[in-house]
Amino acid sequence: MSKVNTVLGPVAPEELGVVAVHEHVGYGMPGSELDTRWWKTPEERYAETVPKLRRFHEYGGGTFVDVTGICNGRDVDYYKSLSAKTGVHIVACTGFVGGDTALPFFERAGVDYLTRQFVHEITVGIGGTGSRAGVIKVGVSRGGRMTDLDLRIYRAAARAAVSTGVPILTHLAIDAEPAVAVFEEEGLPLHRVLFGHADDGLNAPNTPDTWLAGRGGRIGFDTFGYETELEDPPFWARPRRERLAHLLGFLGKGFLDQALVSADANCSPLGWPGVKGHTVNYLFEELIPDLRDAGLDEATITRLLVHNPADFLTIQN
Ligand SMILES: [Zn+2]
Repeated sequence: MSKVNTVLGPVAPEELGVVAVHEHVGYGMPGSELDTRWWKTPEERYAETVPKLRRFHEYGGGTFVDVTGICNGRDVDYYKSLSAKTGVHIVACTGFVGGDTALPFFERAGVDYLTRQFVHEITVGIGGTGSRAGVIKVGVSRGGRMTDLDLRIYRAAARAAVSTGVPILTHLAIDAEPAVAVFEEEGLPLHRVLFGHADDGLNAPNTPDTWLAGRGGRIGFDTFGYETELEDPPFWARPRRERLAHLLGFLGKGFLDQALVSADANCSPLGWPGVKGHTVNYLFEELIPDLRDAGLDEATITRLLVHNPADFLTIQN
């Protein structure tokens, strides 16, 4: 039977509904949980997060993919309670946002060790939660070039993806050639990889989206809502029209089946204030209306938000 791992157990792909494929329940840098300035009580975290997930569900959202890696505030028992209380399927990840957010313990680990860690979290569970990871996160460290540790993480992720059938999602798709080389050397077809943040204002100019898509890769337009029009925009913001035009241009090149969209929002940021005025519900409140205004029909919108992510997340046996 086809299935996707969620924190509450396996789900059939056709039950996922509308998927937000790159999001965060709470994301922070390693150690932020120790900073008293930013420490949040469980009540505060629930109060910030539950209304956003409830609204997501009311809008017709089915599945929230949390790609907060190991060391960045991932908290699977918490996700389980959020999912049970809101009715939103939550997919958790194994892997790391980037080599530069891996704590020293993992920084020294070899490819075999990292592979075993990822496979364990996918096939046995994350810690003692019993929840299996549904996707593997990897990424490019700050500086914009793949480090040795990034490459070890990519190779371990590729091996874990080949052996378990779970897909890989990347933070950034700059410096893409070494990443593609690793995936090809490990025998992982690129349609099992979602190359993320192709649309952010800082990295879009350096992201070879059509080159990756031409080789079969999936492309994440997944920072929707981080707009220069916001009151206090982040450094990766981009003008709203420019981002939309980028997506539409990509679709126009015949890559509809390889495009995925998301908002990369934080329900309850850890160790930083987050970006005011931005939530996962941008997808329903702004993006879908914009896509309709641009002339996309409902079948195309459903492909982007329902079929493509289901196809990506389904475990390949
Ligand atoms: Zn993210």
